[in-house]
Amino acid sequence: MIYNPRLTAAPRLRYMTRAMVSALGLLFSALAAAALPGADFLVRGGTVYTGAEAPATIADVVISGDAIVYVGPEGARHYRARNVIDAGGKIVAPGFIDAHTHPDTYIRSPDARQRLNAPWVFQGVTTVLIGVDGAGSFEIAKEAADFEKQHVGTNLVPYVGFGAVRRAVLKDDARAPSAAELDRMRALVARGMCEGAIGFSTGLFYAPQSFASTEEVIALAKEAAQRGGLYDTHQRDESSYSIGLLGSVQEVMRIGREAGLPVHIAHIKALGVDVQGSAPKVISLIDAARSAGLEVTADQYPWLASGSNLSASLLPRWSVDGGRAALLKRLDDSATLAKIKTEMVENLRRRGGAQSLLLTSSNRPWTGKTLEQIAQSWRVDPVDASLQIIRTAKDVDEVASFNMTEDDVRLFMKEPWVVTSSDGSDGHPRQYATFPTKYAQYVQKDKVITPEQFIRSSTGLTADIFRLVRRGYLRQGYFADVVVLDPKRYAPKADYLHPRVLSEGVDELFVNGQPVLQAGKLTGQAPGRVLLHTPPVGTCPK
Ligand SMILES: [Zn+2]
Repeated sequence: MIYNPRLTAAPRLRYMTRAMVSALGLLFSALAAAALPGADFLVRGGTVYTGAEAPATIADVVISGDAIVYVGPEGARHYRARNVIDAGGKIVAPGFIDAHTHPDTYIRSPDARQRLNAPWVFQGVTTVLIGVDGAGSFEIAKEAADFEKQHVGTNLVPYVGFGAVRRAVLKDDARAPSAAELDRMRALVARGMCEGAIGFSTGLFYAPQSFASTEEVIALAKEAAQRGGLYDTHQRDESSYSIGLLGSVQEVMRIGREAGLPVHIAHIKALGVDVQGSAPKVISLIDAARSAGLEVTADQYPWLASGSNLSASLLPRWSVDGGRAALLKRLDDSATLAKIKTEMVENLRRRGGAQSLLLTSSNRPWTGKTLEQIAQSWRVDPVDASLQIIRTAKDVDEVASFNMTEDDVRLFMKEPWVVTSSDGSDGHPRQYATFPTKYAQYVQKDKVITPEQFIRSSTGLTADIFRLVRRGYLRQGYFADVVVLDPKRYAPKADYLHPRVLSEGVDELFVNGQPVLQAGKLTGQAPGRVLLHTPPVGTCPK
């Protein structure tokens, strides 16, 4: 065998050189890492949707304090993070923003655990809009101070509500305000706006707000317009109760034009047998107004049943003029009772009959039964059964009302001006399962919308509509509201008969940079903030 030193020495030299290079490399990268700025979390290698209209990329997200400091391919080259989360195979997105919620039993609970707002957190939601349907207070500063002191799991965005404003001045009366009374109501709306509400919310379907004329609402909405707010509404009629669905959409747009502000239609739908199939007409009305320059948007929940109560669904509005005491008096008068029942028969037909109303108030003999079933078991007709329930006590007559068609739901969902909302209220699974239902059913199973449309309509678009500052996008300098979810496990677990079951599949959730969920479990942290709107300079007293 011929010994050739070049054949053996050269590789050994190369080997040593490599070892030296790699030792030096390690030394340099250790020095470089020591020189890198520190950060709290590196979420590594996830499928990242930024909330903009763009497909996902594989990327890192770095969080420091309450902010996102980096979104890109190599987080570890720029930051030395104390915690690294492997997000391979998972979706990383801005925390979801829920445009329409009723979370009061959670966020106002005396129990700190309840205030974590778990029904929303487990869906990946980091911000909820409250005081909707005109239910918000006008004492925004006081409310904000209370929430900051109590600590809540998610961010809260408040509206000033027409219900409280009208009640404070006109009680539950079905009449127009005098000029002086209108001035008092305007001052209350202005106060709410100046204290940081993002806009003026109404629920014109509900008494006593239903007693207001369009002109009254326009006068009040102008107070929000002057201060950079928007108009949000559970519109007067989503069905065929009074002015009809199309008439009602036109009323919303008239309010927007005459008060001069963007208008937002809450939980857009075509409710009941008389208007099912109207989505194309509603969409073309709104598209025409948008092309003419009016800002019109809407939110939507992905369910075929609405959540309401028997009183609002079936009783004529005049029967509740003056409030509950006045109603009970009318029910005791046989001539008036007969009139009320005649209208209830018609309202029940409009809602699709007694089999389409599922009774959902908890711990009642009727819980989980349809109005038809309970009427049969009591051997009375459905209108009498519902009156019996309404008379029993306040707030025990909640229903899931099966009134929407799949076609209408899908058409609205595809519009580029429609965002996700839960309308989450007690007794309806939408409170616990809206976002995963939209994803599992309408993205994954039926492919009505793409994953990026789902994310965008739950994050960036929502933040744009409501002018939420530095929220809704994964971008450097934005607040670190971030969700990490496993697309294979992200799923709703609640249903109409078991409405209070937490959703699954969200592994990590950050609110203002703090982990609220870690490895799918609550951390107990409650870093939510009240996101207040700043009115333009000179529009509020100093
Ligand atoms: Zn509503």
